[in-house]
Amino acid sequence: MVEGGAEAGPNTCRHGGASPTLDPLVERRELLPRSDTKASQPPDIIILHDRTTGEILEFEQTRPGLHERRYTDTDGQETRRQRYEMKAAAEKVLGNGSRLFKCQRMRIDKTKDVEIKISTESARAFFSGFQACGSVWICAVCAPKVTERRKVEVAQAVELAKAQGLKVMLLTGTAPHGLGDDVRVVLAALKKGWKNTSCGRKAQALRQEIGLVGSIRVLETTYGENGFHPHFHALLILDTKMTPAQVEEAWWPLWRDGCIKAGLGEPSRKHGLKVEDGSRAAEYLTKWGMEHELTKGHLKKGKTSLTPWDLMRVMAFGPGHFSISPELRETLTRLGIDQDRARALWVIYAQAFKGNRQLYWSNGLRKLLGLGLEKSDEEVAQADPEETAVTVATVNNTQRLAMIRACAWSEVLIVAEHDPSGLPDLWQELITKHGGTHEQ
Ligand SMILES: [Zn+2]
Repeated sequence: MVEGGAEAGPNTCRHGGASPTLDPLVERRELLPRSDTKASQPPDIIILHDRTTGEILEFEQTRPGLHERRYTDTDGQETRRQRYEMKAAAEKVLGNGSRLFKCQRMRIDKTKDVEIKISTESARAFFSGFQACGSVWICAVCAPKVTERRKVEVAQAVELAKAQGLKVMLLTGTAPHGLGDDVRVVLAALKKGWKNTSCGRKAQALRQEIGLVGSIRVLETTYGENGFHPHFHALLILDTKMTPAQVEEAWWPLWRDGCIKAGLGEPSRKHGLKVEDGSRAAEYLTKWGMEHELTKGHLKKGKTSLTPWDLMRVMAFGPGHFSISPELRETLTRLGIDQDRARALWVIYAQAFKGNRQLYWSNGLRKLLGLGLEKSDEEVAQADPEETAVTVATVNNTQRLAMIRACAWSEVLIVAEHDPSGLPDLWQELITKHGGTHEQ
């Protein structure tokens, strides 16, 4: 539960220190990592609960007589609010007919009300009963949920493979390309190039030579100086005594030929293919996923390229927004990307990646490791979190439609987490301002 608790009212001071009524409260439009606080001297923090929006506001005393609003990368409620806003920005670009638009609006079962549940483990509120698009590429609400669960499954696969005495290595495959290349063309060619290393007689011989039992392939892209850079990472599960360098040598001719055949040209021997050991595979897995990407990715120091989520963030909020870290802003300036450019690039990305699988398990691998059938992204996104949860409220049609019109998903969840008894007031306010009877 959020600090401050359900009993916290307006101007509630969490601990001793200057009274908020005496100090000016100022919004500092900057995102701070949690580590910003000096461990030796805890900051003087005041937590306020805004009863009208349900938002929890944290103010830190930055100098005597001044409290500034804090935003942190670990502020779960702020992060969630931004995700809903990023989703709304994407909908605006893609239009009402998209699957993304139906996500978190339409019900799975039209005869049932949506419910607000609170996880007994994490104390986080969530909606149950909404349709979910499950898009790992473009939905800022579904993607974290889907990739986080996939990640758990992949980590489990790695453990199961190791328990069977198998080796795990990380392969990264990139193709040469330059600015102006159509990312759709590059992506299609990249997939074709990969096929050369997984299908056919030569690929079969390669599998035998390196003892390849199976692979889990992840498709990704970044955007940098040379435009979009789609690439693969694959966790190779091997029954072999070979070193990563030896596996790379064996893999290289097929990858090179595949790229040439697919029309990508000859990849660089140095950068085109890399095979690394299990520790790098584990490291990659820790960082993989939208949760990391959306909460910490944009805070990365020495960023040279952008992720699609960075582009989406700039498209939604503009480069001057407090959630754009100084590191990200620097990269944007270097690449000459403003809000309009971010939007244009994001649309190209969204169209190119639509329908592509982010994660691909080679045939038979799941069975071999004793994992069940793979669920679709949509099924994963639609399912309630596995932990136990209690229903704190149901959302009737009028309330649901008012919430949608007001784009108030995150506000509703915040109130549910903080003090569900405040929900009737919030519904009343939303219905008065945004009510209506139009069915969605
Ligand atoms: Zn979605």
